[in-house]
Amino acid sequence: MAPHDPFQGRRDFLRASGALGLATMLPGAVRAASTHAGVVPAGDTDATSDVPLPARAPLASQPFRRLPAGAIRPAGWLRRQLEIQASGLGGHLDETWADVGPDSGWLGGTGESWERGPYFLDGLLPLAWQLDSAPLKAKAQKFIDWTLDHPWPNGMFGPRSNNDWWPRMVMLKVLTQYHELTGDARVIPLMTNYFVHQLGALPARPLRDWGRSRWQDELLSVLWLYDRTGDKRLLQLAVLLHRQGFDWQGMFADFKFKQKVDVAKLKAEGGGGDVFMEDLGQRVHGVNIAMSIKSSPVWSLVSGRAHDRDAVHHQLSMLDTYHGLPNGMFSADEHLAGRNPSQGTELCTVVETMFSLEVALAITGDPALADRLETIAYNALPGTFTDDMWAHQYDQEPNQVESSLHRRPWTTNGPESNLFGLEPHFGCCTANFHQGWPKLTQSLWMATADGGMAAMVYAPCTLQTVVHGVPLRIEQSTDYPFRSRVEIVLHPARAVAFALKLRIPGWATGSTLTVNGQAQASGSAGRFLTLQREWQPGDTIALTFASVPKTVSGFNDSVSVRDGALVFALPIAESWIKWRQRGLTADWMVYPASRWNMGLPENASFRRAEQPVGPVPFSRQHPPVTLSVEGRPVATWKAEEGAADPVPRRPQADAADVPVMLTLMPYAAPKLRITAFPLLAPGSNEHPEDGHVS
Ligand SMILES: [Zn+2]
Repeated sequence: MAPHDPFQGRRDFLRASGALGLATMLPGAVRAASTHAGVVPAGDTDATSDVPLPARAPLASQPFRRLPAGAIRPAGWLRRQLEIQASGLGGHLDETWADVGPDSGWLGGTGESWERGPYFLDGLLPLAWQLDSAPLKAKAQKFIDWTLDHPWPNGMFGPRSNNDWWPRMVMLKVLTQYHELTGDARVIPLMTNYFVHQLGALPARPLRDWGRSRWQDELLSVLWLYDRTGDKRLLQLAVLLHRQGFDWQGMFADFKFKQKVDVAKLKAEGGGGDVFMEDLGQRVHGVNIAMSIKSSPVWSLVSGRAHDRDAVHHQLSMLDTYHGLPNGMFSADEHLAGRNPSQGTELCTVVETMFSLEVALAITGDPALADRLETIAYNALPGTFTDDMWAHQYDQEPNQVESSLHRRPWTTNGPESNLFGLEPHFGCCTANFHQGWPKLTQSLWMATADGGMAAMVYAPCTLQTVVHGVPLRIEQSTDYPFRSRVEIVLHPARAVAFALKLRIPGWATGSTLTVNGQAQASGSAGRFLTLQREWQPGDTIALTFASVPKTVSGFNDSVSVRDGALVFALPIAESWIKWRQRGLTADWMVYPASRWNMGLPENASFRRAEQPVGPVPFSRQHPPVTLSVEGRPVATWKAEEGAADPVPRRPQADAADVPVMLTLMPYAAPKLRITAFPLLAPGSNEHPEDGHVS
């Protein structure tokens, strides 16, 4: 390998391992990679720990790097949100749910031994360190210690009751974060031994079902270790995972799933049973697709091809076009379900899309991915939990007019799916939701390839890092996304010159920027603004984004309402009925107690009102911001079996009904809501002179 020519090195490696061009098509390629496992001596590593952020050759460089876990701490409303998570199921799940309780297989017990323990830890671990909570750290540490202290003699790790590659992919993500947080010397050898074992074992026992669909999440951990040890066998494993893993890029390049999936038809076409699990059902599965959003960018680090890196944009555009919803997500209940806003999206799909976007943002450097990440994080994520985060839904709907046991028009999921509870429908989301807020926190700032820092996603936080050898603390104060002003104070240990990048959101109609009170040239929407200077202790940046409320077109010519990073929805009065107690928490149904079938006129005008951000940031009791707009009832729009009928296309408002002043809230505040409104037919917005408003 030529260390001073990373591109040449990468080409040589890929040529040797058959990952370039036609070599990938050769039937012998898998066997060739497997024989390399025994050829490369174990000691052939140029291992240096604590490698600085640039990627190790021959991996492609990337414009941004995610900071080590623990570098960013939440502040302000974000800290309150994480404290709510810790006070709710996030910090107590193990006390009330046996699947991650004392008998977990990941603690050496005979209980659940598959994905649920690792899922829980993937969020509990960063949450514990971000809040510096000794009790939560101790909870996580038990699982980590058991895992690190009980490897199998052959290099495998985890519960002995299964040898599935998939749950270990999740635990590897946990171990990489844990090593960044603690530097525990047990992590690197365990991961190395496991990957060596897997490199030898995969040819005979290849990736299947979930592991085959989610290979890119393991690839992240493989590359993480390669950056630290330089062990070339890891690159061979990377190629093998890509080769055995499902080709998401190819599927989206020729995207055939353009409508709500008919699962019965797909099963019949695929032969049903295992064939469905191995192929069609896996391909249109929401969580798999959410995770796959990172697959092409992550693979591009190995292939070095811009074409791979950029494929994420086409993938997202296909999802938007055929399955996009106004809360920033795509429908998946449990399979792709089209654009009707009465279809659902699974919570696992929400948090996995967020993590994929965080990874893809660092690799592509495209600020549009941060816009999308904020839309999901500040709307879809909190919108599917109760205020105290003791209960969540499996499926949320943008137009959610009832949470009940009715059977919905969903692709696959059962009648419990949109209740609020401990484990409505299925417990994957119960275990997996924990990563949402902590990993967002971890991604607010990133390091740049030239040694500077970049503000990627806006929320209040503090950051501790080192820039050009100088310790640097950054304090970011803001009530964003409820407000548009962000203040950033830099505290370098001594003056230090570097480029600081600030993302200007794509929706901003303007922006203002000052440094120490002096106006600066502001940037363009949808780009990064770069400030190159010698930063002094106490330097203060103030950034303000202009935004105007606007409507966005969607399914059946419906309109949803956006202002900045927030989506707004009509709150429906809620009647909560406890269905059953579930240990420390309960399952709930929610019934509507006010009229919801409202349409908006063309050229609707909005009046914005602000209130202080309350103790629960996304609460309908104290919404930090509201928008008032005049709407009209649409009597013909009804619900069936608890689901709003598809939004009618350009309905005529009922002539007998007078206009009504609607007060819209952030999407996440109400748990029953209308987000996609029918756009009234022309003429409907003419109303009596003294129209009553309520
Ligand atoms: Zn789930």
